[in-house]
Amino acid sequence: MLSNSRREQGEFEFLRQLIERLPTGRGVVVGPGHDAARVRTNGKDWLITVDSQVEGVHFERSWLSLAALGRRSFRVAASDVAAMGGSARFALLDCGVPEYLSLPALRRMELALVEEARAWGAYVVGGNLHRSLEVAVSVTVLAEAPRNRVHRSGARPGELVVVTGNLGDAGLCVCLLRARQRCPRALLRRWQLPPRRDRLGRALVERQCVSAMIDVSDGLVQDLHHICEASGVGAEVDAGSIPRSKAYQRLAAEDLTLALSGGEDYELLFTVPPKRLETVQQLARREDVPVTVIGRIVRGNRVTVKQGSRELELERLGFDHFAR
Ligand SMILES: [Mg+2]
Repeated sequence: MLSNSRREQGEFEFLRQLIERLPTGRGVVVGPGHDAARVRTNGKDWLITVDSQVEGVHFERSWLSLAALGRRSFRVAASDVAAMGGSARFALLDCGVPEYLSLPALRRMELALVEEARAWGAYVVGGNLHRSLEVAVSVTVLAEAPRNRVHRSGARPGELVVVTGNLGDAGLCVCLLRARQRCPRALLRRWQLPPRRDRLGRALVERQCVSAMIDVSDGLVQDLHHICEASGVGAEVDAGSIPRSKAYQRLAAEDLTLALSGGEDYELLFTVPPKRLETVQQLARREDVPVTVIGRIVRGNRVTVKQGSRELELERLGFDHFAR
């Protein structure tokens, strides 16, 4: 059981207080508090990040094959370096293996992960196995850093808020699966294999079109809040412009809750000076990735979502690992 104090403090406040106390050292260019850290060795910058998929927390075994879990685990981790314009090069894998998992199944998962990494230009160069009560996959990704630095803290008032792809499909899929309701194949696929946005992320950073960027893992509003907090600004989102798939609209109609705060979309969310929007749109067309302007950065420190002139009340911002 989670204690009340853990719930009250929340994951993000806990991390904020922890980060304040971390010692910083030579070679740390961008420390914790962004999607990935940026470190420098022998004059070369690298991005480094880690992420996990844990049975019972992120997924249930019946939701995907072990091979799909391998691919998903790499994409989830690599999404963070994509959001900083990095090129994944090396990965380490830590795997918690319960007794019921057969060795061929474990091998299928690992080979699929290795193959997915290769498709991104990365090698799995080592790892660790240990016994555990459930399947748990943790992937560390080391990526070459782009010359230009884009993280969460560069957004300025007047800039546009832009997102790739559609939002809410993964959140809706998880909701349906948890409720043991039928989940359309399109939504299931979307959750099982998050989109690959590294090429567009790199292009946006290289061409200096974006001032701040993050991947949408905790939910649109929560992740936009991360950008606003790091940048010292607020944002206004136009609810009507949130991009949603046909499947989402069919099932959730006008209910935007999961598109705003469902999480696990792994789309890119970024801020753009208005005069750079055309270049962003050109790059997105070249990569065949849809992009949508969903709002604007404003002064202040609040993220508001408006439907016409009415401000939507948001029950919860997004996913917080300590909140449930
Ligand atoms: Mg992230």
